[in-house]
Amino acid sequence: MFKKILVANRGEIACRVIRTARRMGIGTVAIYSDADRNALHVELADETVAIGPPPAAESYLFIARIVEAARATGADAVHPGYGFLSENAGFARALAAAGIAFIGPPPEAIEAMGDKIASKMLAAKAGVATVPGHLGVVADEDAAVKIAAGIGYPVMVKASAGGGGKGMRVAFDDASVREGFRLARSEARSSFGDDRLFLEKFIEEPRHIEIQVLADAHGACIHLGERECSIQRRNQKVVEEAPSAFLDPKTRGAMGAEAVALARAVGYQSAGTVEFIVDRDRNFYFLEMNTRLQVEHPVTELVTGLDLVEEMIRIAAGEKLRLVQDEVRLEGWAVEARIYAEDPFREFLPSIGRLTRYRPPAEGKTDGATIRIDSGVVEGSEISLYYDPMIAKLCTHAQDRNAAIDAMADALDAFALDGIRHNIPFLGALMAHPRWREGRLSTAFIAEEFPGGFHGAEPEIAERTILAAVATSAELLAMRPPRSAKATALTPEAARSFVVALGREQVPVRATRLASDGAASFDLGVGDAPALRVETEWRPGEPTWRGSVDGERVVAQVGREGSALKVARRGASVIARLMTPRAAALAALMPEEKPPDTSKVLRCPMPGLVVSIAVVEGQKVAAGDTLAIVEAMKMENVLRAERSATVARILARPGDSLAVDAIILEFS
Ligand code: ADP
Ligand code: ADP
Ligand code: MG
Repeated sequence: MFKKILVANRGEIACRVIRTARRMGIGTVAIYSDADRNALHVELADETVAIGPPPAAESYLFIARIVEAARATGADAVHPGYGFLSENAGFARALAAAGIAFIGPPPEAIEAMGDKIASKMLAAKAGVATVPGHLGVVADEDAAVKIAAGIGYPVMVKASAGGGGKGMRVAFDDASVREGFRLARSEARSSFGDDRLFLEKFIEEPRHIEIQVLADAHGACIHLGERECSIQRRNQKVVEEAPSAFLDPKTRGAMGAEAVALARAVGYQSAGTVEFIVDRDRNFYFLEMNTRLQVEHPVTELVTGLDLVEEMIRIAAGEKLRLVQDEVRLEGWAVEARIYAEDPFREFLPSIGRLTRYRPPAEGKTDGATIRIDSGVVEGSEISLYYDPMIAKLCTHAQDRNAAIDAMADALDAFALDGIRHNIPFLGALMAHPRWREGRLSTAFIAEEFPGGFHGAEPEIAERTILAAVATSAELLAMRPPRSAKATALTPEAARSFVVALGREQVPVRATRLASDGAASFDLGVGDAPALRVETEWRPGEPTWRGSVDGERVVAQVGREGSALKVARRGASVIARLMTPRAAALAALMPEEKPPDTSKVLRCPMPGLVVSIAVVEGQKVAAGDTLAIVEAMKMENVLRAERSATVARILARPGDSLAVDAIILEFS
């Protein structure tokens, strides 16, 4: 077995690999860029090596320096995590040349699967079903239009070197295949330095279901069942689960067998994932093979009880697989939600800054559900624009899908994060979404169910009552004990009337504080409803309110917003203000604030680089016309006109680096 492993990565995955290595009694080396000097993975490792400046190309992707770091520290193996150099055959070869083991597959397998065109050809040869399409490089836009006609719309334009959801566009007609070709090509060139594109049929109502495989150096190869990753935004996974609610044992067996056949055909060793796209009739087609540990591997670990990183380490050290196919047991249901530093209320723009609060729910097993958190941050960590915006992965495991989802909903409500924008409200709304709960998924789920983006869930009446009850109890607990007869605080058993303003809506509340020791207990008559019994141990200042409302367990986020209290749960939030009836009557007379008029300018929706401006001053545009293209986090974003207008003045130029909300152009 290895003595020391260098982890060539950062963030949550570096922390996760270090933990398993430590448990196995193996020493660990972390590498870090200048931006990560104080990062958690650096703190966790036994030894650390500074590797270079923040840009990944000069640090986490700098092969020579990383090999040198391994040599200098005497590491005998390197785990690459995911992303960065994990699918770089040159890195695996450089390590081999230095006599250091690469904890991953052989370089030939990485190469064979790294190119989407080549891997599709190989899969077809191994008898694996592939998406119908054109297996070759498409030369230009004209060729793309011709080939698309042969395949039949809709089609997908894809970069052969693509990954991470980048460099692909779906097209429904000749015009959009031309535009998609242009955008995918320039995205592929800037992200992968390789602009070869191909075309395949766009599978409608597709579900993304992938098979985890494990293969050793002695010819054994098994699969560990599937993960469904259909909840995606811009072809990037957001929520994953194992098993898939869509697969029957027969389809699972057939997909597993094809995945194993492909792994064998490329001489695979280590953990790997064969991704399939599955249509509504359960026909499945090979998409690509990821020759590395996958972000969402924890859900497989939760249902199989295996530690995939440990298996990878053992395989790289030459050990035989410790189980055969028949011994693989899938137990219960696991769900993973990716927590991203992005603003769901502003088209999911990346958000950077310091995590002034980071209080995840407790890990472990309670009430039949297990909570697991994979994270690379702590309170006070800095989220920078240099790297992936994922801050943590929250997983739950329970006996069935509903129980795992319930546990996830509660865990999200108990997750307190501040200082940056994050997608927890969106994930909370997702968990409560009836279609998700029913398991009627497709990769278009988010686009279909949140067509205009996410604007916060609209709480139903029952949910509003719960939010109002939480807000009232918290405000009552925050009041100071009475010092004079005029004070508003409640004394035990005395009922008082208040009004809770939820936004513009005013709801009368009649509150009685019940005598109790320990937890505070109230009877709250919200609106016309019968009084609710509210119990909580919450103390003023705590970000997470836990307690019960009429016997139902409730977890909610509470935080001050000026003189009001923001209460959030299940993706919905209310701004609540507790007032005396008299103050409420006066407040109702205040004029409503109008949001500012934004129709006169085009603002940059995210920090980014102007790639091109598509209009000139004086030009008339119609709704949907392209105005400008802005690149942010390696994606090219087309900014379109929202309505007919005339361009009066252009303030930005191609190449400009713009802050969020910077004005790109003005309309007259
Ligand atoms: P998964 O299928 O495990 O979710 P993704 O394809 O989303 O994996 O990629 C995992 C990570 O690796 C992400 O951080 C993604 O941005 C990064 N990544 C994937 N492919 C590439 C690539 N070719 N170049 C750079 N980063 C990549
Ligand atoms: P990447 O390397 O970026 O992960 P994939 O080929 O795995 O690229 O595709 C990523 C996602 O894009 C898939 O999970 C799926 O949602 C969507 N997708 C890819 N190809 C197709 C297709 N032919 N039809 C429908 N959706 C597709
Ligand atoms: Mg993929």
